[in-house]
Amino acid sequence: MLQNKLSSHLSLLTKKEPVISRQFIPSECENIVTQSASEDPLNEEMYSPVRGLVHKYENRVLVLLTMNCAAYCRFCDRRRSVSEIKKGIITAKDIDVMCAYVTKHPEIHEVIFSGGDPLTVPEILKQALQKFTSLSQIKIIRIGSRLPVSNPLRITSQVLDALRVVKKQPLYMMLHFEHPAEITPETVKAVKKLQSVSTMSLSQSVFLKGVNDSEDILCELFTRLVEIGVKPYYLFRCEPVRGAEHFIVPFDREVEIATRLHERLSGLSVPSYVIDVPGGVGKVPVALNFWKVNRSSFTDFQGKKVKTA
Ligand code: SF4
Repeated sequence: MLQNKLSSHLSLLTKKEPVISRQFIPSECENIVTQSASEDPLNEEMYSPVRGLVHKYENRVLVLLTMNCAAYCRFCDRRRSVSEIKKGIITAKDIDVMCAYVTKHPEIHEVIFSGGDPLTVPEILKQALQKFTSLSQIKIIRIGSRLPVSNPLRITSQVLDALRVVKKQPLYMMLHFEHPAEITPETVKAVKKLQSVSTMSLSQSVFLKGVNDSEDILCELFTRLVEIGVKPYYLFRCEPVRGAEHFIVPFDREVEIATRLHERLSGLSVPSYVIDVPGGVGKVPVALNFWKVNRSSFTDFQGKKVKTA
């Protein structure tokens, strides 16, 4: 059960911006559950061979370093486990077990740290980075974080110190922005600090009803992100997560908005609009209105037909 948590930065922001409140403050809509909703739509539990590690794609693994975040997003697709801080604590022993698993799988060359928010636990992050970056097979490090948005003051020297451990591999910061109002002066400062120690910063966004289901809002968001040196990377269709279905935007509406974004934005500013396939078998790009296609279903990476409605 996802706990309620708001940082002091977001408390200030939610007073001015209802679109921010909607993302972080629980609503009664969370009790409405349909049959298609799932606690774990991406099947991560099934792909977890050792505690804290998800191995779904051949050449990369996900490390869920903590279940803690500075604030909890109500639409989180890990709401089944995020905020369960005690259960989610990763120890030095867990990290050793994960590294041993990776060593036995030489095909793995990339580690993606996620959670929860790995930047909220800089000590554990530093230990994990020291271990994983010392494996010669690891060529790429990615870290996912929403901390610059949810509590930018927590991008401290301790966090930057932890990130400086990555020397041999490129370090990609995968940030998470939903609305242009999140790009506050404090957030811009935090992003700049992260950019001083990382190779590149990108951003992922999720279509959210009542937050960013608007062509103008997303145009502004992606334009502003590029201006602060953050490349918009993915725009996801919201997952049918139990308790978060009220955020799902009608599919045709999303396609219409994504099409207009391609017309209005430069290639640098427009993210790839994808469906993270329920069951966790790949991120499938959606055909936009430039093509006359039947979008009632698509074929996933394993050749299975998936209905969109
Ligand atoms: S910051 Fe990320 S992991 Fe944490 S609640 Fe939000 S979406 Fe979930």
